[in-house]
Amino acid sequence: MPLKIYNSFSREKEEFKPINPPYVGMYVCGPTVYGHPHLGHARTYIVFDVIYRYLMHSGYKVKYVQNITDVGHLVGDVDEGEDKIQKQAKVEKMDPVEIAYKYEVSYFDDMQVLNVLKPDISCRATGHIIEMIELIKKLIEKKHAYTTNKGNVYFSVKTFKNYARLSRRKADETMEGERIEIADDKKSPEDFALWKKADAEHLMQWDSPWGKGYPGWHIECSVMSMKYIGETLDIHGGGIDNIFPHHDCEIAQSEAATGKTFIKYFIHNNMLTVDGKKMGKSLGNFIILKELFKKLDPMVLRFYILQCHYASPLDFTQAALDSAKQGYERLKNSVFSLNKAVEGKTKSSSEKYDDVETLKKEFLDAMDDDFNTSRSIAVLYEILKVSNIELQNKNMDIDKLIVINEIINDFVDKILGLKMDNKKSQDDIEDKLIEFIIQLRNNYRKEKNYKASDDIRDMLLSLGITIKDDQEKTTYTR
Ligand SMILES: [Zn+2]
Repeated sequence: MPLKIYNSFSREKEEFKPINPPYVGMYVCGPTVYGHPHLGHARTYIVFDVIYRYLMHSGYKVKYVQNITDVGHLVGDVDEGEDKIQKQAKVEKMDPVEIAYKYEVSYFDDMQVLNVLKPDISCRATGHIIEMIELIKKLIEKKHAYTTNKGNVYFSVKTFKNYARLSRRKADETMEGERIEIADDKKSPEDFALWKKADAEHLMQWDSPWGKGYPGWHIECSVMSMKYIGETLDIHGGGIDNIFPHHDCEIAQSEAATGKTFIKYFIHNNMLTVDGKKMGKSLGNFIILKELFKKLDPMVLRFYILQCHYASPLDFTQAALDSAKQGYERLKNSVFSLNKAVEGKTKSSSEKYDDVETLKKEFLDAMDDDFNTSRSIAVLYEILKVSNIELQNKNMDIDKLIVINEIINDFVDKILGLKMDNKKSQDDIEDKLIEFIIQLRNNYRKEKNYKASDDIRDMLLSLGITIKDDQEKTTYTR
């Protein structure tokens, strides 16, 4: 089955035909680095990581480009308001460049923990100011943009036919969320900023033909994607909340400048909510990944996110997370038993197993059907069921288990990026070790060797494990 992708342009699944196969150029809007990554980041970048992995697995040579927004993204996502990074710099009393770098490092740290592969090119907006100025100059020359007496440059939306063809919004629809005053030097309210004049106190500013200023948010993605991939990209990705205004603006300014189609396939991942509500700092349900990882295995989060198809909304609740944890442990333990059974063994025949081949095809079909990880994970369990039955068979067919093991490693590790540590659940082992140590201590107590038994108790306590001696039994909490 050929790979089909739901294209946000047509709002239909389309067969994937890259411009110049086997090469694929994929650009995904990266984070604005003014805070530690949160759950929403985890979803977006895990989703595109699996898309990247699957395209490579399917034989494509992918160039994956992701930007780092370190300037120009204003509070409220439109043209007025403070720069998000500058605002945070004032809060933390640091230079904006320090803030951007601090949170860029934090972003890549969390992505590594989530086993998200690094993009082939990670590029910062501030490193591409010259190219942005060049693109803006071109848009002014072609009369798609205009300068104002305030020193701003705007894109003139009415000069571009088909503006907002991605979001299909009408010009009079207003932005949801924060109300920001419309700049009074715009010719038309829907025009958007390409370059903004900086006041003296604005911390990040650059020289330009229009005076000192800084770029608008959208221009960076057009510039960096076209610089590293070309004027037409095979795939552009991002969160659904980026469709308007960000992606509509990217399309308008890129196509107005080049006269070519900017994007072939636009992929958007759906929202992540927490307990049914949009996640927000003011709502008290804002989940920072570093906090979450103190109590949750990042691979469980990855598994949880992939259990839901990227185009469906995902609601983060404790109950759903608990059940994902159980499901993941089951998967991990089955993979562990399979790995153990085939360790050091080699195949003695090249026999094909129809039941395994059918399931393998089902997994790949699910991935080819718009990267349906939800269905492919369900198939994984079916494959492991075959493996578990074989493992219990007195005359187990090692060749069959080796075949299954190869498939599982390919699917779980390479495509879904679930890092199995080849161990039974860590918690399991820790519990058994603690119980074993308690048993040793009880032996010392019976021998009235209280010095040794107290040392063990104190050592466990220093690790955060408290033991309690009852008349019948010793219990512990941690
Ligand atoms: Zn972007």
